[in-house]
Amino acid sequence: MSMSVATNAQSRSIQNYRQAHSNLLANQTNVNKQLSVEETSRYARDLYGDVEPEHDIYTEGWESGVVNPYKNADIPATKTLNIKTSVMPIKWNVVNSHYGYRPRFGRTHKGVDLKANVGDTVYAVYDGKVRLTKFERGGYGFYVIVRHENGLETVYGHLSRFLVKPDQYVKAGTPIALSGNTGRSTGPHLHFETRFMGYAINPEAIFDFEGRHTHGDLYTFNKSSYQSDSRGGYAQRSSKRSYGYSSKRSTSYSGKGGKKASASAGKSRGGKKRRR
Ligand SMILES: [Zn+2]
Repeated sequence: MSMSVATNAQSRSIQNYRQAHSNLLANQTNVNKQLSVEETSRYARDLYGDVEPEHDIYTEGWESGVVNPYKNADIPATKTLNIKTSVMPIKWNVVNSHYGYRPRFGRTHKGVDLKANVGDTVYAVYDGKVRLTKFERGGYGFYVIVRHENGLETVYGHLSRFLVKPDQYVKAGTPIALSGNTGRSTGPHLHFETRFMGYAINPEAIFDFEGRHTHGDLYTFNKSSYQSDSRGGYAQRSSKRSYGYSSKRSTSYSGKGGKKASASAGKSRGGKKRRR
């Protein structure tokens, strides 16, 4: 008798499991249908992103004594930069918020927000020299700018601790700071920017974070593809989905999303990785 009860219970629990499982599957299909990539990333942005895009440190709130080095500079119409590196700024390589215009705030997010916990090591992505380490309460929090030999500057924001000092030379991979949640931020993350003479380039046009490599070896900066942001600084036109990268190996890429970007980059890398 107790046997049949047990068997009954067992078959019931299997039935329950099947029911639960098919419910889960049904829900999953629903979720997939309902959430487009854009919605998902917007959701992630709300969860992890900056409360509001940071003020442009290159044009706004720049402390006297630290002059924007590019303010009166003659910006070349086009410039090819050597972007090759295997160092990513932080270990997770998950983009929680993309570069681009945020209609909600009427301004452009000039970098990407990368997944981070408080206290994760942040690395210089190229050889270079630390230009400044600063604190900005209303925006970047503790942040570091490194000037690189390839012409780029990288910005690392919302940090909890500096590990370098201004004018210090760093190698690609040198720990420069610990990540955090300082400044205008809803949760721990690393705000990361790539700039050429003050122009904020979409970091995902240079880095395939997920793939942990760069999109090829070269990036061609085109001044004409940028427009002045209403609040100062320069951002890429129609930057919503703009990866806008071009390199020797991949000249016709027009980005649609991160997945495609990495697939394309994978292809171009394939050529390099010749098997003997
Ligand atoms: Zn950000």
